[in-house]
Amino acid sequence: MLKRTFRLAAPLACALWFGAPAIAAAADPVPVTPPSTEEFQAWLNAFKATAKSKGISQVTLDKAFTGTSFIKRVIELDRRQPEFTMTFWQYIGKTISDKRIARGREMLKTHAKLLKQVEDKFGVPPRFLVAFWGLESNFGDYTGSFSLIGSLATLAFDARRSKFFTEQLLAALEVIDRGDIAPDVKSSWAGAMGNTQFIPTTYRAYAIDFDGDGRRDLWRSLPDVFASSANYLSRAGWRKEETWGREVRLPKGFDYGLNGLDKKLKLKEWQSMGVRRADGRDLPVADFDASLVLPAGADGPAFLVYQNYRTILVWNRSILYALAVGHLADRLIGAPPFVAKKPINDKALSRADMKNIQRLLGEKGFDAGTPDGIAGSMTRRAIKAYQQSNGMAADGHPDSRLLDHLRGGGR
Ligand code: CA
Repeated sequence: MLKRTFRLAAPLACALWFGAPAIAAAADPVPVTPPSTEEFQAWLNAFKATAKSKGISQVTLDKAFTGTSFIKRVIELDRRQPEFTMTFWQYIGKTISDKRIARGREMLKTHAKLLKQVEDKFGVPPRFLVAFWGLESNFGDYTGSFSLIGSLATLAFDARRSKFFTEQLLAALEVIDRGDIAPDVKSSWAGAMGNTQFIPTTYRAYAIDFDGDGRRDLWRSLPDVFASSANYLSRAGWRKEETWGREVRLPKGFDYGLNGLDKKLKLKEWQSMGVRRADGRDLPVADFDASLVLPAGADGPAFLVYQNYRTILVWNRSILYALAVGHLADRLIGAPPFVAKKPINDKALSRADMKNIQRLLGEKGFDAGTPDGIAGSMTRRAIKAYQQSNGMAADGHPDSRLLDHLRGGGR
């Protein structure tokens, strides 16, 4: 699903592309020309008529749109062109601090009884519920300071993703109409709401009133917050008997081409190829599929991920986000840091470098799509194919070494 997260670490919010690393460091703001008041009001009036025809009450419409105007800042944030692609280690450094781990552990203790009740009902263990909470809003510290309706109306008016945000605005009005939330609540600039940063369509579909007061309140009710997260994950296919995955160690001479979520093998098949837990022990004996994820390429850490990792990706389609949730959850119950170590030279690729990689791949007959500076699944496939035809470790990972190789006349 499309989703915005992290008010504090706002640049992380751009990690929307499956397989794409997070985007860091925004460039200069893009100039935005706001519409005239008349133009925006005319659009708003037409929208209100549509909303009414779809069953939103007049009372809600009157309250929700009192004083609503176009918010220029929202469009500036929407237009940010990131300059760098964050590396795995940079992303982990930003999302998983000792402080966050310590506070998460405290939260696990403080809310143990409630978390157990939620686990019993929905089958999602407490450590994951607290990890999502920590990553989404820093345990409720950052739930957004933009007007929900104003932000969504601005983005729905704007042509770039009008259809998506019109749907979100309607969903938000339904949630208000239902009495769950006040018409003047605050959200992220893109309409992500409350402790879980649910977008309105997710809120409408999955939020739960767990404290029984008749309202689904993801700002002030922790029972509602934990139950809503658990309900969403459960409905997205969470398996209560399994964890998310684990860091592993690959044997010498390993075929890196086996990495990627499109390849699934049984745990015992990975074991027979020589893959072990990161500490060297055998893989667990269990009859389920796992995929290999190499978020920093062949030289970085390796992870075998299970079905619940894919479920985390339903919440947020960034492979780095999903690894961060899984790892933070493990750390909350005492697991050690990653065994793999951050390299001394952990340099982010600039967007311009990434575009060059895509362009050079295309010139050599490996179609990476239109160069956009974002390493999506098509780009990764093209990189893998290029690496294979040049006798390199086929990890599909873009970095400066790959760019040098492409420039140096690789086939
Ligand atoms: Ca409630």
